[in-house]
Amino acid sequence: MEEKSLEEIHTQLKAKCLSCDLHFVVCTEYPDRHNAKSLYCPECGQHEGNFLTWASVVASPIRREVPGDARPTDDMQATGVKAVKVKNIVETT
Ligand SMILES: [Zn+2]
Repeated sequence: MEEKSLEEIHTQLKAKCLSCDLHFVVCTEYPDRHNAKSLYCPECGQHEGNFLTWASVVASPIRREVPGDARPTDDMQATGVKAVKVKNIVETT
C-alpha cells in the first residue's frame, strides 16, 4: 500500500450543532487543533461544545475538497446557480 505524505491527506471533522441542527464539515491538516469545545456554529454561533462530532482521515489533499470543483459563491449568486440548487433541494424533499 502506498504511503501518503501529510500534504496528501487531511482530516474532515464533521459536526452537528445540537442547538440549531446545522451540519457542517471542517477540513484540516491539523486535527489536533479542533474538537467540540473549539468549534463555533456558523449558523447560530453556539460555542458551548454542544456538538456531535465525527472525524475521517481522507486520502486526498484539502484542495480536492475545498474548493474542489465548486465555484466561488459570488459567481453562483451572479449566475443564479445558488437559487436553482435551493429550488431543487426543496422539490426533492
Ligand atoms: Zn448552531
